[in-house]
Amino acid sequence: MKPAPFAYKKARSLEEAMSLLGAGKDARLLAGGQSLIATLNMRLSAPALLIDINGIGGLDGIALKDGRLEIGALTRHVQAERSEAFAKHAPLIACAMPHIGHPAIRNRGTLGGSIAFADPAAEMPACLLALDGEVDAVGPKGKRTVKAADFFKGLFETALGPQDVLTAIRVPAAGPQTRTGFAELARRHGDYAMVGLAGCARADGKGLADVRLAFFGVGAMPVRAKKSEAALAAGDVDAAVKALDLDPPDDVQATAKVKKHLAGVLLRRVAAQLLEARA
Ligand SMILES: Cc1cc2nc3c(=O)[nH]c(=O)nc-3n(C[C@H](O)[C@H](O)[C@H](O)COP(=O)(O)OP(=O)(O)OC[C@H]3O[C@@H](n4cnc5c(N)ncnc54)[C@H](O)[C@@H]3O)c2cc1C
Repeated sequence: MKPAPFAYKKARSLEEAMSLLGAGKDARLLAGGQSLIATLNMRLSAPALLIDINGIGGLDGIALKDGRLEIGALTRHVQAERSEAFAKHAPLIACAMPHIGHPAIRNRGTLGGSIAFADPAAEMPACLLALDGEVDAVGPKGKRTVKAADFFKGLFETALGPQDVLTAIRVPAAGPQTRTGFAELARRHGDYAMVGLAGCARADGKGLADVRLAFFGVGAMPVRAKKSEAALAAGDVDAAVKALDLDPPDDVQATAKVKKHLAGVLLRRVAAQLLEARA
């Protein structure tokens, strides 16, 4: 299918993008286009105007600031997959990237677009939640920062307003005690996950502390398994699996029962990665 007709503007600054968003037309920002263009082609959405943000300077930087890795919204998946900065300071994100689609998609798709789109089966939102990251946005009321825990609101719904532009995400830089684990199950490599899990913890003596487990593909948005986090911090993997209280819906990929079973399998795999990597 072909998309419905739309107008196209290439914004040269954040101010121009925001002013175009506020001009009254049904407008959408265009970043990598790997989700947006597909929805247009399938006529799942038909905005009147696409505002291309790829020409806006300063949205693609990666910088270490005050112990945090600041990642510009236009950073491509492929950069996160291959750059030394991610391997060193955000290994969880680097590890998750190869699971996103295929190379052609990762060459164009952006981390900002993935977070803004908030697909419930996407890897990046869960990584951001597991890492206790945050999102920078600018809108009509100026700049603001939103914690990941407050950013995802529901199915494809976030704290971004219709005139907001996501400018960057920020995650704590990994230190010597940081442990991360990632696993997902998809029917074919590159498909959206049936169930996935991003995990992060701090090595604490012989055990783990500050365990954060963010599942995806199990509901409307990424969800933390807090009871399992506590059990894993106490060193009991079996209890962590038993404590899983996810409530996934049936979907086209799998029934709720299958998803719950798979979540337990993934939890064991991620727990092994977190524990294996201890100093
Ligand atoms: C075949 C295929 C397989 C895929 N598989 C996966 C997968 O397994 N896992 C996965 O996570 N993704 C997958 N994707 C999606 C891909 O990761 C997208 O790149 C990503 O979801 C969106 O990023 P984008 O830059 O392409 O955003 P776009 O498609 O350009 O935009 C997506 C939405 O976000 C909004 N948006 C984009 N940037 C901003 C911003 N800076 N501020 C505010 N709003 C913004 C847009 O207006 C739009 O509504 C797949 C895509 C395809 C085509």
